Amino acid sequence: MKALVYNGPRDVSVEEVPDAAVERPTDVLVKVTSTNICGSDLHMYEGRTDVEPGKILGHENLGEVVEIGSAVDRVRVGDRVCLPFNIGCGFCKNCERGFTGFCRTANPGFAGAAYGYADMGPYAGGQAEYLRVPYGDFNCLRLPPDSVEKENDYVMLADIWPTGYHATVLADVQPGDSVVVYGAGPVGLMAAYSANLRGASKVMLVDRQPDRLKLADKIGAIPINDADGSPVEQVMELTGGEGADKGCECVGWQAHDPDGEEHPDMTLNDLVGSVRATGAIGTVGVFVPQDPGGPDEMARQGRLGFDMGLFFQKGLRMGTGQANVKAYNRQLRDLIAADRAKPSFLVSHELPLAEAPDAYRHFDARDDGWTKVVLKP
Ligand code: NAD
Ligand code: ZN
Repeated sequence: MKALVYNGPRDVSVEEVPDAAVERPTDVLVKVTSTNICGSDLHMYEGRTDVEPGKILGHENLGEVVEIGSAVDRVRVGDRVCLPFNIGCGFCKNCERGFTGFCRTANPGFAGAAYGYADMGPYAGGQAEYLRVPYGDFNCLRLPPDSVEKENDYVMLADIWPTGYHATVLADVQPGDSVVVYGAGPVGLMAAYSANLRGASKVMLVDRQPDRLKLADKIGAIPINDADGSPVEQVMELTGGEGADKGCECVGWQAHDPDGEEHPDMTLNDLVGSVRATGAIGTVGVFVPQDPGGPDEMARQGRLGFDMGLFFQKGLRMGTGQANVKAYNRQLRDLIAADRAKPSFLVSHELPLAEAPDAYRHFDARDDGWTKVVLKP
């Protein structure tokens, strides 16, 4: 089969690789019809991880079930399914409590398991013609009959919509809250979209890319361009000097200033400055440094100049981590089915798999208009 493989920093190519197959009785084999490029793929693409050359990337996948293992009894051949990017077993201590992003069976470390990702288990990604889905009964989200015409909406359930939504859950967004979101990439846009769905009275979205800020405007969020001056001061001005009730971090380790200089701690400290005393912050941007090399090395490299003093003084709370996609995606699916949500507003490009290397280049360079790429293998 054809698949997009990682060769080295900023070097990916579409290659002929051995076909994905059912390997265990609980596996399901999916013919991939949509698979997105994600901001998280850029951590690997840019060489910020120790992902091994030859890895097939792609963790935002949707397709049709073409084969099931002998122990699968809920999913059927022919079902159209979306696959949460986290691979969960469904029965470990964490999955049992809904924390499928931290499954202890699928990846015995502490980081949970995912398709096509560094340090998240041996699983191949879905930027390919076929994908092996472990624990298929648990990990397949079945889609309704309108899934063909709304495919670009449903594929957002694999990751970025539940992730954006998770940011608003971690930040405890309540009806009437004012919310500031840092980062207007796909995840930040979905966090802002989710904050509105949860009844926020005002949503502010910080970035400096005009095309992305334009989308903010389209979904009823107030765009804040930090190239025009301190985003903290702009939030203060928009909230009568009080600060936002809640905040979401949707940038992560690659945060930089408008001049392009990297400041991994910048958005966290801007959030501590922007959110009012006793408020809360949800951090879904990934803060995993280059070559994590195990928990000790990661802790050492991952230390940031975080403003703990002001965080404490304000009595703020913060939640972090991978989104437990499965905890939300059935409900979010039903909002799409009921025509109450349309996350495909993000999609800027729909391309065949063969054009993936070129798409990675454009998405990585944040070229104007390249918001979200859906590949169609
Ligand atoms: P992206 O790279 O497309 O978007 C990031 C945006 O942040 C860009 O538009 C960039 O201009 C902006 N930005 C950079 N520095 C900034 C700053 N100082 N202030 C404000 N904006 C700034 O990525 P994405 O796909 O939207 O993903 C965002 C983050 O979420 C990444 O770290 C990704 O790995 C992470 N993520 C986490 C999970 C999870 O489960 N926790 C899942 C998916 C993605
Ligand atoms: Zn993703």
